[in-house]
Amino acid sequence: MIGQDELQHIREQVDIVDVISSYIPLTQKGRNFFGVCPFHDDNHPSMSVSREKQIYTCFACGATGNVFKFIMDYEHVSFMEAVAIVATKAGVELNFHLKKTHSTSSKYQKLYDCYSLASKLYQNNLHTKSGSGALEYLKKRQIDDACMKEFEIGYSLKDGQVLTNLLLNKKYEKTVLLKSGLVIENAYGLSDIYIDRVMFPLWDLEGRVVGFSGRLYNDEKQFKYINSKESEIFKKGELLYNYHRAKEEARKKKQIILMEGFMDVIRAYTIGIKNVVATMGTAVTKEQASHLKRLSNDIVICFDGDAAGAKGTASCIEELLKLGVTPKVVRLENDLDPDEYIRKYGASAFQNKLNNPMSTMDFKLLYYKKNKDLSDSADLTSYVKEVISELSKIPDEVMREVTLKKVHDESGLEISFLREQLEKLEVQEVKNVSVPIVKKEKDKKETKYEKAEKALLFYMLRDGNAIRVYQEKVTFMPTKVYRNLAREISCFYNEYGKIELADFMTYVSDHEMIEEALSSIVTLPLKEEAKEEELNDYAKVIREYTIKSEIKRLQKEMAGASLEEKTKLATRIVELRLGDKKYDK
Ligand SMILES: [Zn+2]
Repeated sequence: MIGQDELQHIREQVDIVDVISSYIPLTQKGRNFFGVCPFHDDNHPSMSVSREKQIYTCFACGATGNVFKFIMDYEHVSFMEAVAIVATKAGVELNFHLKKTHSTSSKYQKLYDCYSLASKLYQNNLHTKSGSGALEYLKKRQIDDACMKEFEIGYSLKDGQVLTNLLLNKKYEKTVLLKSGLVIENAYGLSDIYIDRVMFPLWDLEGRVVGFSGRLYNDEKQFKYINSKESEIFKKGELLYNYHRAKEEARKKKQIILMEGFMDVIRAYTIGIKNVVATMGTAVTKEQASHLKRLSNDIVICFDGDAAGAKGTASCIEELLKLGVTPKVVRLENDLDPDEYIRKYGASAFQNKLNNPMSTMDFKLLYYKKNKDLSDSADLTSYVKEVISELSKIPDEVMREVTLKKVHDESGLEISFLREQLEKLEVQEVKNVSVPIVKKEKDKKETKYEKAEKALLFYMLRDGNAIRVYQEKVTFMPTKVYRNLAREISCFYNEYGKIELADFMTYVSDHEMIEEALSSIVTLPLKEEAKEEELNDYAKVIREYTIKSEIKRLQKEMAGASLEEKTKLATRIVELRLGDKKYDK
């Protein structure tokens, strides 16, 4: 297994601020960086990341840890997998086997391997003689070689046996082949599912091929696309096309653009727009919405220009609003999708569209107005009601006022009346909807001893002096979890001659109880440093408790004891009382 020193080395090669900001947007305020905590449902930046201490702390839910812990909890991987991911980011060679299979549950490894082999085969086919028709089609659609390479576009041969045979030769079982959805079984045996098609691989969030979309390129009469069926590794509603590539770019540009189809994404790439992902269908799921939120809080929805695209945009806005994100919207004229729009009007026209998105509310106003005649009373009534209901979901006060003004202009209704309607609706909604509230640790009454234990631990985690005070003057914490934590800190200090919080977190990462205690200590609102005398005061309070309980115990014992024993116990009690005094000098 990997040693503490090596773990420390790996941890020191990365900056936690860089790592966390590759997952969630962070803003610097003073010495620390702040972002929206991904571990509880929130839209306030309650997570702080310290470059100095190399740890993160959420003041709302209490999540805290070092870079390994963050990756473990964010990517849902084991500790060793998290170490492997950090090592990869740091460019550190690992000596243990996990490196190759990081975050891959071996359970599905065969499926991943089948897809990987298939993708390589298809790419290769495209540049053979048989692939010339497909290649020509792609060129005609203005997809150049660089783009084909980037998106690993390929071609499935007319001979429907090639992939099947390749996989069988590699000794994959028939069940795996059928499970993958790349192979079907009919009366003649096994054969490839994709025949004579342009092949677009689909990736999961980590960039592994998990499916394909196969497009016919010479026969418009049949279904244009066949998508892989859902499998254990391919769940359409859980992934976003191009997520793994767009991640970095979205962070740099501080914006993510959402489209419907993968061809839109590929087209956007050809004109240099790389912070873009696609839903592969118009209904955005909750999972997809939260992936988007992780990429950036500035989300631009640019779906197809048709009615289905407008409907999809509206439902996507809903999902994002639920997560506290208000996206912006781009609508394309003449029912065009982004791919068509760019080909028809060119890069700069499209870029211009992206640079001037409309607000969610403006989109909604347009959306609700569609097919309505506002001079008709019934239409106007339903329009005003829809907008008011929409407004109740928007927390932005300015946006509310601006919109009310617009509706007033359109409807002639008094602003005060509209506002009243809005308020009425909100009262109702508060009654109906239970707002999820972050569970805070119950403020149970803490004794002064517990407070002193926690405070001393707080300083023990940052100051060797406090540890010495503990070792010399306390040695025993009354509360069990704190006692264990203090012992671990003490051991760590003896072993390494110093205390480094981020490394200590690694040290205790397999003790769940201690980790929990640690989290409650790290998030205490105490000042950074304590004076020697303050530390001594904490120690005194803790000691006092220990001695008091011991005296109590002895006094109980005295009750049933013989005279001789009583004398002994009494002496012991006096010693305890005196013993405590000697520390005060
Ligand atoms: Zn949190």
